[in-house]
Amino acid sequence: MSAKRILVTGGAGFIGSHLCKKLLEQGHEVICLDNYFTGSKANVTGLLNYPGFEIVRQDVTLPMQFEVDEIYNLACPASPVHYQHNPIKTIKTSVLGAINILELASYLRAKVLHTSTSEVYGDPCIHPQTEEYWGNVNPIGRRSCYDESKRCAETVFFDTYRQSGLHIKVIRIFNTYGPNMHPNDGRVVSNFIVQALRGEDITIYGDGKQTRSFCYVDDLIDAMVAMMNTEQGFTGPVNLGNPAEFTILELAEKVLSLTGSGSKLTFWSLPQDDPKQRRPDTTLAKSKLGWEPRIGLEDGLKQTIAYFRRILA
Ligand code: NAD
Ligand code: UDP
Repeated sequence: MSAKRILVTGGAGFIGSHLCKKLLEQGHEVICLDNYFTGSKANVTGLLNYPGFEIVRQDVTLPMQFEVDEIYNLACPASPVHYQHNPIKTIKTSVLGAINILELASYLRAKVLHTSTSEVYGDPCIHPQTEEYWGNVNPIGRRSCYDESKRCAETVFFDTYRQSGLHIKVIRIFNTYGPNMHPNDGRVVSNFIVQALRGEDITIYGDGKQTRSFCYVDDLIDAMVAMMNTEQGFTGPVNLGNPAEFTILELAEKVLSLTGSGSKLTFWSLPQDDPKQRRPDTTLAKSKLGWEPRIGLEDGLKQTIAYFRRILA
């Protein structure tokens, strides 16, 4: 495989930092672009040992110029607390970010992979979710700044593809967790682990019977790189996630038992439009990428707990 120069937007975030590392390990040059809204320099400064690594502080809502062969577009806050903090900015990041990235990719005729989300399915009425499902999204709720702007970003990608034949790839990521999540990220896996390690109450929203399917980050990164390397004309969207499904209560029990914590479960109101169930149908990923997740929830949680023990010490 020949070495490429690759731009990773949102590269200092949780998933982006793992992706930068993987691409550098494969011998590529990587430019990590980030505005540090939810990402952190600490996630990527260790990678500066690779001579082919550069970090650029920039916002994807502004036009940008780089000379690269491939682009992975990850820039966007992903945790509900952060994407709802400044919803208009979230919409700009998703939609203007997609437009800017596609302009750059079109100018360079570069291949571009966009990270969409299982949230395009909203509170899904079919289960598990296949890529053909159009979703059940409230267009005016608190989650819609994220859901609808991610849906619009997909539209921008596919309209560009239809207009110009640009080499695009769209993936829909389902709940992914692992090291490099920020302790204040606000998503369920990091919240529960941090609470358990600090001996604080575990915050269950609603009755905890809602489900999610949790994918360990290493599995996701393998699939992202495999997707980028699929043949021209295969655009996706492709669901990427681990189809093993758990209730939020089951997750809390697992975290408590793996940390040996005596934290108590406490019950809080369920956020508006919180999806009741979520599980990816990964048939397409299996057939097109030859990919299946390998790391089960317990093993992935062990790695993630070890990471949080280190950074909270
Ligand atoms: P994250 O919040 O850790 O990373 C997002 C990164 O984007 C951060 O480093 C942040 O600073 C950066 N960013 C935000 N706005 C920006 C802007 N305007 N300009 C430049 N950089 C900006 O989240 P993550 O979990 O690593 O998610 C990465 C991508 O994957 C996101 O696009 C997210 O929507 C998508 N995704 C993630 C999950 C998941 O479970 N982790 C699920 C579905 C989709
Ligand atoms: N959740 C919870 N306690 C928390 C954080 C989240 O019970 O401290 C719930 C949340 O209501 C949702 C699920 O866990 O039902 C997953 O939430 P997360 O924010 O991780 O992701 P998303 O809702 O985007 O899938």
